[in-house]
Amino acid sequence: MAAAVAATTSSDINSMSTSSTKRSAVPSLSFFKDWTYVPAPESSDHIHLKDQYGLFINGEFVRPHSKRYFDTINPATEKKIAEIADADEKDVDAAVTAAANASAKIWKRMPGKERSKYIYRIARMIQERAREFAVIETMDGGKPIRESRDVDVPLAANHFFYYAGWADKLDYAFPNRRPQPLGVAGQIIPWNFPLLMAAWKIAPALACGNTVVLKPAETTSLTALKLAEIIQESGLPAGVVNIVTGFGKTGAAIVNHPGVNKVAFTGSTDVGKIIQKAIAGTGKKATLELGGKAANIVFDDAPIDQAVEGIVNGIFFNQGHVCCAGSRLLVQEGVAEIVIRKLKDRMETLIVGDPMDKNTDIGAINSKEQLKKINEYISIGVNEGAELYQSSCTLPSKGFFCKPTLFLNTSQSHRLVQEEIFGPVLAVQTFRTVEEAIEKANNIPYGLSAGIWTDKGSKIFNMTSKMRAGVVWANTYNKFDPTSPFGGYKESGYGREGGLHGLLPYVQW
Ligand code: NAP
Ligand code: MG
Repeated sequence: MAAAVAATTSSDINSMSTSSTKRSAVPSLSFFKDWTYVPAPESSDHIHLKDQYGLFINGEFVRPHSKRYFDTINPATEKKIAEIADADEKDVDAAVTAAANASAKIWKRMPGKERSKYIYRIARMIQERAREFAVIETMDGGKPIRESRDVDVPLAANHFFYYAGWADKLDYAFPNRRPQPLGVAGQIIPWNFPLLMAAWKIAPALACGNTVVLKPAETTSLTALKLAEIIQESGLPAGVVNIVTGFGKTGAAIVNHPGVNKVAFTGSTDVGKIIQKAIAGTGKKATLELGGKAANIVFDDAPIDQAVEGIVNGIFFNQGHVCCAGSRLLVQEGVAEIVIRKLKDRMETLIVGDPMDKNTDIGAINSKEQLKKINEYISIGVNEGAELYQSSCTLPSKGFFCKPTLFLNTSQSHRLVQEEIFGPVLAVQTFRTVEEAIEKANNIPYGLSAGIWTDKGSKIFNMTSKMRAGVVWANTYNKFDPTSPFGGYKESGYGREGGLHGLLPYVQW
């Protein structure tokens, strides 16, 4: 019921404010602010969590050699959820040894059609436990339950389904090339899409006959550990997937281990550079999926209301914790005023708060450190002379939260425009011509994604061929599918994940 009200409300706002003359005849925003939603919290009584998690090595949960554990907390409440093992070099060595044995003795010899049955089974089990995964993802990472339920978990299952389909068809994917597995893949993932990133990494590796040592980010290990439980139940041979938890040094131990044949990393450009240096000359293959600073480009012939929804989805979705977030808005001068006014109106209606509430649009920032970083960037923006606008919502007193934030009057040299913030902060610039839009969109160190909003197909094709971005969405934003490749240009990394392209980094000829 509440969701239906929300949908009507937002489209009403859009249609009502199409022209400034019409707008005076409609209720002001305070009308909408008077609407309060009845809380609709998702229950957490159906989930199973242990107080303490060991490392998943060779098919068993084991105590870490270091005997050290660290706490994982709920960023919306700051309460401890569980203790996670802190793996040291000896643990990583045990995991890599298990993966190498499983590769040599079982997995790379197993016919593709048999491997595919295991991968398919994992996909089905994720679906069966989808509700539990969604709740744990939200509790551990802070993202709204609507997103973990409708985006992260279904997409994670879809990745396993999709790559299960490829496992016995590699000879068709690469005709006449006789693809062979690489061996052990060391995989390191960030905290913004914990289960989904694990699926992006594990599914294609297994499909191609590789074994895996995966490290989740320290603040969001729980869904990877739940995935380990599923993997154990699925009967996947021991050692094919190993999950080691810990901090950056655990990741470094994986990267530097001589038994690792391929490194797949998703995370910051800074750590990507460290990894690139570490593996130089070792012969290890690598894919690096790094940062981004995408431009959402709105032309004056764009469907304005849809564009505003797309902008909101692009930057406020998942608190802006999205590598391909549309963190810059480039709007053509003729429509800048109306787009910004509608955007401000829409920001007012966004609900910031309890991520477990099904009405929530913007949940908790993943950690105290990340919130500090975002707030530092907000101060930088103000000091650089940009004009700050934040919604008037009240933030919860506990937990890590940030208001949806807009910066107007930014210029290309501003740090707000050049640097990745990884929070719900949008930098707005205007442009006059297509050439200026392309120039501004490309003039940053990153090249992961972009969005184009226009009525003209020819303009879309012209832009996409000139944009230095791995993914360009047209008249939509943040849409993912296991069949499409994803990856970056420039400092956004190299290699592609997803689709047929996503098999390539896991095979040799
Ligand atoms: P991060 O600090 O680079 O961490 C990513 C992972 O690397 C974590 O598991 C981290 O462990 C580990 N790590 C840290 N130092 C390491 C080292 N020296 N050697 C090996 N591993 C190390 O990134 P983050 O803050 O978690 O994630 C945000 C970043 O990821 C953003 O820049 C975002 O754009 C990027 N990202 C990119 C994509 C893409 O597909 N291009 C997708 C999602 C996110 P700990 O966290 O435990 O320290
Ligand atoms: Mg946590």
